[in-house]
Amino acid sequence: MKVHVPTSVDEVLGLLGEGVLVAGCTGIYPHLGPTESIISLRKAGLGGVSVDGDRVTVGATTTLTELAREVPFLRESIASIASPTIRNMGTVGGNLFAPQPHGDLAVCLLALDAQIEKAGDQLVTSISFNVPERWFYTKAMRRKQNSASIVTVASDGERIALGGVAREPVRALAAEAKLAAGDIDGAAEAALEAADPFDDAYASAWYRRRVLPVHVRRALTNAV
Ligand SMILES: Cc1cc2nc3c(=O)[nH]c(=O)nc-3n(C[C@H](O)[C@H](O)[C@H](O)COP(=O)(O)OP(=O)(O)OC[C@H]3O[C@@H](n4cnc5c(N)ncnc54)[C@H](O)[C@@H]3O)c2cc1C
Repeated sequence: MKVHVPTSVDEVLGLLGEGVLVAGCTGIYPHLGPTESIISLRKAGLGGVSVDGDRVTVGATTTLTELAREVPFLRESIASIASPTIRNMGTVGGNLFAPQPHGDLAVCLLALDAQIEKAGDQLVTSISFNVPERWFYTKAMRRKQNSASIVTVASDGERIALGGVAREPVRALAAEAKLAAGDIDGAAEAALEAADPFDDAYASAWYRRRVLPVHVRRALTNAV
């Protein structure tokens, strides 16, 4: 296995095609072959969080732990992800690529209408979003740690994003329309329109569909 450790974005771009991009390596590790070359982003200068007024810009290789430390409204949401060990290594950029029912931060970023900066076609360099006035989040899972989502709900009080109930994080647009009219019960039921759930070891598609309205209602009635 060859390990490239580029020290700038330009160097990363020059190496694309020479190996698999890795950041914290928590998600990709089981999929790497024994002789696969990797391009580590660890020293590419893509870490760190900057806050300018309400605008937060997060470098792609910022770890989940660092983000929770720097951005208080996301602390509880990030605490629902994996375990401290994984959060210390797993990065914000990497979480965008975590297949469902993982990718809870990606669900939050969708609800925040986050903007993603890229270099070249495939390198995510940073993600930015505004701190919302209100934040709603809930994640139904089997255990407190290292348990993927059954249903994840994130909302800024206007946008509603769901995890665990489709192959990708989804916006619940019909639910958002009900919420805008002040109808939380209607929003909870309408969220089903965005769901296309699947069976896995954590829950059946039937169960995910059954409990989705419960968790949407619960999330929207309890601001974090
Ligand atoms: C035991 C366990 C439990 C978990 N539980 C949860 C959970 O409850 N909720 C949850 O949300 N997640 C969970 N995860 C997933 C974890 O959060 C992700 O694996 C992690 O966020 C990925 O980040 P990483 O830096 O380790 O990515 P890596 O594993 O290094 O990379 C993952 C993928 O992203 C790509 N990538 C990484 N960074 C970039 C970039 N900057 N630009 C372009 N492509 C990039 C890589 O090429 C790769 O394809 C769990 C993982 C484990 C191992």
